[in-house]
Amino acid sequence: MSYKQSNNHQESDILIVDDTPGNLHLLSRILRKKGYQVREAIDGKTALEEVNNKLPDLILLDIMMPDIDGYTVCNQLKSDPNTAEVPIIFLSALDDIFDKVKAFESGGVDYISKPFQFQEVLIRVKNQLTLRRTQQQLQILNTQLEARVEQRTKELEIANSKLRDMAFRDELTNLPNRALFLERLADGIDIKQQYPNYQFVVLLLDCDRFKMINESLGHSVGDQLLVAISKRLKSLLKPEDTLARLGGDEFAIMVNKIEDMAEAKTIAQKVIDSFSHPFVLPNQEVFINVSIGISLSHLDYQKPEHILRDADTAMYRAKDLGKGQYHIFDPSMHHHVSEKLQLENDLRRAITNNEFLVYYQPIIHLKTGKIAGFEALIRWQHPTKKLIPPVLFIPIAEETGLINAIGYLVLKSACEQFRSWQENKLINDSMFISVNVSARQFANMELSQQIQQILEATKLDPHCLKLEITESAIMDNPKTAVAILEGFKSQNVRLSIDDFGTGYSSLSYLHNFQVDTLKIDKSFVQRMDNNGSSCGLVPVIVNIAKTMKMGVIAEGVETPEQLSLLRSLECEFAQGYLFSPPLPESSLLDLISGNLTW
Ligand code: C2E
Ligand code: CA
Ligand code: CA
Repeated sequence: MSYKQSNNHQESDILIVDDTPGNLHLLSRILRKKGYQVREAIDGKTALEEVNNKLPDLILLDIMMPDIDGYTVCNQLKSDPNTAEVPIIFLSALDDIFDKVKAFESGGVDYISKPFQFQEVLIRVKNQLTLRRTQQQLQILNTQLEARVEQRTKELEIANSKLRDMAFRDELTNLPNRALFLERLADGIDIKQQYPNYQFVVLLLDCDRFKMINESLGHSVGDQLLVAISKRLKSLLKPEDTLARLGGDEFAIMVNKIEDMAEAKTIAQKVIDSFSHPFVLPNQEVFINVSIGISLSHLDYQKPEHILRDADTAMYRAKDLGKGQYHIFDPSMHHHVSEKLQLENDLRRAITNNEFLVYYQPIIHLKTGKIAGFEALIRWQHPTKKLIPPVLFIPIAEETGLINAIGYLVLKSACEQFRSWQENKLINDSMFISVNVSARQFANMELSQQIQQILEATKLDPHCLKLEITESAIMDNPKTAVAILEGFKSQNVRLSIDDFGTGYSSLSYLHNFQVDTLKIDKSFVQRMDNNGSSCGLVPVIVNIAKTMKMGVIAEGVETPEQLSLLRSLECEFAQGYLFSPPLPESSLLDLISGNLTW
């Protein structure tokens, strides 16, 4: 039979303290026999030394001892944090004046009376050792748990700060994003409320024709460009200003502590000027413009979104005014915005009720002085307003996509009316009808089908129909433009480039497309007679048209001088108030029947 009861016993180190050697040895023997390691101490002093040498797992401590008694030993051990945890079982002879309460108060965990009953000693020792071991294990587990909790907390903190960073950063440019920008604006608003003299300004930047770059050069070049733009903008700002990318090609700048609007204008101009240099990308140089909307801090601003909204309104106004400019928000623009919404609703209704009229302006063949064709120009007969000119609703129709439905209505009525003039022999067979097609309409895949359907329904010779498309409509759709234009060609429909000279004037694309006519923008025509000796771009465009075997129309002819200059330049066609303004059908028919020659 093994004298060891369990492995635990072997590890357990028991210190027995008793001034009676007989007791000491007896107890030692019993416990050793049970497999415990046992140390002996004959008095209190030795006991304390033993404990300090090596912590026992358990102490059996006699109370009545000379010099230092058991209570004192116990008190000392319990008051030292290094030894306080060692459990102590008191030993007391029956004839001792043994105070159980005092024993527990001084920190003992149990007591055993002498003379010993061996079984009792063994059970009490075993219980205390088990308790102690359990406590120690618990302690280890606790420490491990604490360490793990601490580790997890750290990890969580790191993850949190990463998440926060991600939530507030634009990944591509590493600039603050909209959320962070709004926070900075909110801080600015708070400061402004406390110190009303403090001023900041918001510049909202939107790249002009960024979509075209993405489509023609690819998205990765688009991304490179955005990064290059962000670097250039950053270099123009002070460290305390905030530059953010709000999304897409939209950036925002918050300039802190500015003196007045003049300072804001200077910054905006600096930004615009900085865009006059190309952005150098790994494989190419790219030019791009920005439009900027500016809004200045104001005590009325309660929410950051409102400042941004106003800068946005101003930015769109800047775009309307011709891109590559800045515009400062003024509160009357709110009115403009709600008016715009109203107009949009009205436009939807106008489509359902077909409130549109088509006016016609004659186009004159300059050699014969006779009408060669007509341009269809839309007007809107709003039920409660005066006749609304297209400049007031075509841009909104473009923005909202309503232009597709409106464009269809114009095409259909222009073709139907023109066909009925033909059928009634009011006009001769060589005349043509020109219809304007906007950029968005041009990009719409259904346009060609719509034209086909109208041509079939009216039995109009496709050759009589000319589509007027601006250069920018073509350049806005660089990928699809060729296919779309070829589609029209195969339908036998003719094409005019409208407002020629105001857009890209990049002549290279003319080779790619079979264009029939160039329309010289009226701004060039009208600048002609300011300086009779030089006719500006007009002769150049007339020559381009001739070289490329295209027709050429000068639009906006208002004076006899312009007319004679155009004749001397051998410009083929002309159109303008000098001949006739755009007219409703009935007045036009009167004009035609007059058979005038100019
Ligand atoms: P646009 O295509 O350049 O049309 C010529 C504009 O010049 C017309 O303005 C015409 O009335 C005006 N005009 C004609 N002769 C003279 C002149 O001697 N002097 C001056 N100062 N102006 C002259 P309107 O009719 O107000 O149309 C403005 C613009 O609206 C058009 O410019 C065109 O871009 C657009 N538009 C008109 N009708 C339609 C349409 O049915 N569809 C689309 N998508 N756009 C249209
Ligand atoms: Ca036109
Ligand atoms: Ca035009």
